[in-house]
Amino acid sequence: MFCGNGPVTNEHVWPDWILELLKKEIKKTYGLKKFWVKVGFNEQTRMTDKFDETVKRVCGPCNREWMNDLENSVKPFLQRMILGQGRVDLLPDDQIKLASWAFKTSLMIDFMLRTNEFPRELATKFYKTRAPVGACFIWSGAYNGREHGFNAIGRPFYVDVNGDLIPGVKLTFRLRTAAFQLFWLSRMTGQYASVQYHPAWHQLWPPKGEALNWPPNNNAFNDEQYTGQANSAHGIIFGPTGTDE
Ligand SMILES: [Zn+2]
Repeated sequence: MFCGNGPVTNEHVWPDWILELLKKEIKKTYGLKKFWVKVGFNEQTRMTDKFDETVKRVCGPCNREWMNDLENSVKPFLQRMILGQGRVDLLPDDQIKLASWAFKTSLMIDFMLRTNEFPRELATKFYKTRAPVGACFIWSGAYNGREHGFNAIGRPFYVDVNGDLIPGVKLTFRLRTAAFQLFWLSRMTGQYASVQYHPAWHQLWPPKGEALNWPPNNNAFNDEQYTGQANSAHGIIFGPTGTDE
């Protein structure tokens, strides 16, 4: 995937810095050596204590070069978001980096789960632009529920735009306290009139171009709200005008 070159090697789904961060923090906070990972696509959810899963999908140069650069570009603020260390200022440039990171991570989660909900060419397109591809929304918020570790919930869906059914994927995931949601449509639908989303999300993509303070409105999702957000659709209203309200 990504560059299309081989050979692909066994690479961790999660970069070392996130693995180390979570292992250390969970041991310190909960006294645990292992932690729960809960992942699901469609209605299948599984629990595992394996977090350092590898997939044979990425080549060595991709992993060591641009993917590593992408991790380093978000680490200064994403680390604080994952550990829930107070409020974090996200400048417009940070939001674009974080949206790109969340997009790349969503593709990796899809590979990890072997769900193949995202078409293959998406990774190739992402490799060229290093930015979210196509009709895509990405939000970020905070989670303060009972579970530690990692959680991902995916939902394929169709959007009805004037009788035209457009397939898409919604993926909600969190790393300890940092939550992300990606809403992706398989093709552009022209214009959307408005996007409504929960006030505990910040929109990272499409970029709004203004500085954000995370978590949004000092708000965080509890377990019920997080699951609710993962399972319900945002109100994206498609219409003739292209304003983003
Ligand atoms: Zn590569």
